[in-house]
Amino acid sequence: VPDSRDPAADLRRIAFLLEVANEPTFRVRAFRNAAAMVDGMAAEELSERARRGTLRDLAGIGEVLARTIAESLRGEEPVYLRRLEATGGQPIPELGAALRSALLGDCHVHSDWSDGGSPIREMAEAARGLGHQYMVLTDHSPRLTVANGLTGARLEQQLSEVAQLNKQLSPFRILTGIEVDILSDGSLDQDPALLARLDLVVGSVHSELRMDERPMTKRLVTALANPHLDVLGHMTGRMVMGKRRRPPSSLDAEIVFAAATRFDKAIEINSRPERLDPPKRILRLAVEAGCRFAIDSDAHAPGQLAWLPFGCDRAAACGVEPSSLVNAMDAEGLIAWAAGHESAA
Ligand SMILES: [Zn+2]
Ligand SMILES: [Zn+2]
Repeated sequence: VPDSRDPAADLRRIAFLLEVANEPTFRVRAFRNAAAMVDGMAAEELSERARRGTLRDLAGIGEVLARTIAESLRGEEPVYLRRLEATGGQPIPELGAALRSALLGDCHVHSDWSDGGSPIREMAEAARGLGHQYMVLTDHSPRLTVANGLTGARLEQQLSEVAQLNKQLSPFRILTGIEVDILSDGSLDQDPALLARLDLVVGSVHSELRMDERPMTKRLVTALANPHLDVLGHMTGRMVMGKRRRPPSSLDAEIVFAAATRFDKAIEINSRPERLDPPKRILRLAVEAGCRFAIDSDAHAPGQLAWLPFGCDRAAACGVEPSSLVNAMDAEGLIAWAAGHESAA
């Protein structure tokens, strides 16, 4: 039997590392308060509670804290602590590289059919050149007229072009998809029958980003509950550089992530340097909630397909594990996962 560690010391170390990572005070305080409580409790009572699984009955002890204490009592370095120690709030290039090498494809790619700069074939050849097995073609939906969003008829045409290209590019695969607008009421900007035919649907907010927190949260939860949506794209809409700089949308991330896990949907980690979305603070919450992720380039030109390492480094800094990445699945696995959302509805 391994020696028990000191749970209070582990909790305090986590609090310290959260402070280093500039996490909000209330989260740090939860760990410090738990450490004080553990200090004040008889060792036998604590181990008894860990054994019976009743740590959560204690005031202020949620799932993460209970798991951390139990792991520590078993003599294991708590997973939560290990992730923080590994990153210290900073990107670790090796961890990011491990995530990058786990990726077999890219779930968010534009072509010149909407606002991308290059034909589908050039995007596909560049993706293949980067070692991808597949890319999901996700041009914009009709309401996004500034981005030349595809009408249903043009999307149908695109599907036949993709079928032709796939015959020529095999074994590389272009998966059919869309970046569909999430409208202000949470509905999706494309015919459901057409969405059902696509291999993968990314849904993103591109309008009314300054809604109040409650309606925005409801909007995203409604979209996640829609059986056609598979991946929630650049969820806060923030821009961190350039003329379009803007803050993240107001939303209750914990409710959004609860919905994502409930419906087994993926949260996108958008690799574009001007987006870096979601912010690390929110990404850490998604990791804690047990979400799946898609690390995507959102490329609008071939060279931008190589931006995935930006997303991978940020994901690594927030403790994202390779096993949680949907685009670490092969094409068949990804398609089956996405199809499962429709068959479950
Ligand atoms: Zn977008
Ligand atoms: Zn996009």
